Amino acid sequence: MWTGGPQGGDGLSVGWSGIGRVAVIGAGTMGRGIAQVAAMAGHAAALYDVDAGQLERALAGIEVTLDKGVRLGKVAEADSDAALARLEGTGSLREAVEGAELVIEAVPEVMALKKEVLAGVEAVAGTGTYLATNTSSLSIGEMAAGLRRPGFLVGLHFFNPVHIMPLVEVVQGVETNVRTCNAALWFVKGLGKESILVHDSPGFATSRLGIVLGLEAIRMVETGVASPEDIDKAMVLGYRHPMGPLRLTDLVGLDVRLEIARHLHATLGSDAFRPPALLERMVAEGRLGKKSGRGFYEWD
Ligand code: NAD
Repeated sequence: MWTGGPQGGDGLSVGWSGIGRVAVIGAGTMGRGIAQVAAMAGHAAALYDVDAGQLERALAGIEVTLDKGVRLGKVAEADSDAALARLEGTGSLREAVEGAELVIEAVPEVMALKKEVLAGVEAVAGTGTYLATNTSSLSIGEMAAGLRRPGFLVGLHFFNPVHIMPLVEVVQGVETNVRTCNAALWFVKGLGKESILVHDSPGFATSRLGIVLGLEAIRMVETGVASPEDIDKAMVLGYRHPMGPLRLTDLVGLDVRLEIARHLHATLGSDAFRPPALLERMVAEGRLGKKSGRGFYEWD
């Protein structure tokens, strides 16, 4: 039974997050989007990646996205320029993290990697720095174990594409303190997004429900029930979903969804989360969805 969060409902107890400078670790699909929306909301935002090529592509990608926003009249040119001026890419973790009030990790969905990255961040971050993870499914409590200040870690689960999706799931681990939760909720509000507050549980609220639909759709392709196009059309036109589950899987990344499925199957036990053989095979073949050019659909 839901037992309420630190603030419950609308009763946020502190008026603002106190967060100025933000650092984002991992410049992949999500990290670049998070850095972009933070810079757009007025934060100085540093983006770091171990892979220099990824970092370069991320910065170029952010510019393309903002340019498109300007061309479509959704972003004022001055706001785009100001956001780009607040954004900095760096190949040095120390440089990214120093002076940041909030560090958000968006590295691949692997517990050992996330723990290693967070420990590295904590070693160079200030003692009052909040840490956040963009994990889609992993335990915040387990990730916090081993940190010197576990109360400062919170889940900030953004959705793809970050600049368009209005929700951020804020996940409170057993150790996450009230101040950290408050700061996270206000930070999300400052980004102009909506939040939900969820207790630490495998897959939280969103991934747990969303993945069931995605995996079942893959099983339906596997057993020849219908084509990917028609399965997606069924949900779009029959159930008014904005996008079908297979197209969404392509956008999220098949590898990302496979990791989530494996984790939820291992932790929750239900067969609904068992990874379909077709998903395993496609990932092994490098058909990862939009990011690799091919998944259930062909992408340019
Ligand atoms: P991605 O593979 O696109 O990007 C991960 C990035 O992390 C890569 O650029 C990689 O070079 C970098 N990286 C790897 N090790 C690193 C390290 N030690 N230090 C710094 N950078 C490192 O992954 P993604 O899709 O952006 O997912 C990132 C996280 O966000 C995962 O936890 C995922 O579950 C979560 N998430 C993903 C989506 C989605 O739709 N893709 C949605 C919500 C949440």
